[in-house]
Amino acid sequence: MIDFHCHIDLYPEPKKIIELSDKFGIYVLSVTTTPKAWTKTNALSKGKNRIRTALGLHPQIAHERLNELALFDLLISETKYVGEVGLDGSPELKQHLPAQLQAFEHILNSSSRTGGKIFSIHSRKAEDLVLDTLARFPDAGVPVLHWFSGTKKQLQRAIDMGCWFSVGPAMLRSMSGKSLVQQMPKDRVLMESDGPFVKISNRAALPTDTELIKKELALIWALTAKETEQILLNSFSTICKLGY
Ligand SMILES: [Zn+2]
Repeated sequence: MIDFHCHIDLYPEPKKIIELSDKFGIYVLSVTTTPKAWTKTNALSKGKNRIRTALGLHPQIAHERLNELALFDLLISETKYVGEVGLDGSPELKQHLPAQLQAFEHILNSSSRTGGKIFSIHSRKAEDLVLDTLARFPDAGVPVLHWFSGTKKQLQRAIDMGCWFSVGPAMLRSMSGKSLVQQMPKDRVLMESDGPFVKISNRAALPTDTELIKKELALIWALTAKETEQILLNSFSTICKLGY
């Protein structure tokens, strides 16, 4: 299966997560939170061809790491995946929105200059601002909004702009999350664990938990497990081919 947003490098034993994913044949997008983490995280999955490492600068720490944007630019040509990036307008982070925006714009600009990338984007409490910013960088690549939790109207705008979505366990726990998933075009939905940040029954979510997500998606879409899996695999293959 597919886990399109997993922080492999933040588990206590990253190698175990890589072995587990390998054993079950799971395709994983290993997202990072700072440019400094990329080289080491990328090395962890050396020889594992189902794992790709995205270059990121998490919006929750972007204001402290603007000096790593130069490193971001040095590494950008090494990968076609960028994440975790984006904006976070939660009350405790709102004051840092100008710095977050500076980082996000820089990243989108770099990505445009290097031919476009596939993004895993955080947009909590900043959905409109994320979409406004993406609209200003039409050549940046393909945005995948991870754990989208905006309104139905914002979701529709994202759909109209060509965004993709990665759906995780937390979204499927709430009625509002489920109803957002229902509105997403089936052929632009991917799955994510967002482990180890997301917890399932008091333990960190794992790439293998995407099996549970697949079951939930089958229920929401009123399809069989097989049909659901086929749709997800087709979408995954489509987005991989959109590579630059
Ligand atoms: Zn994340």
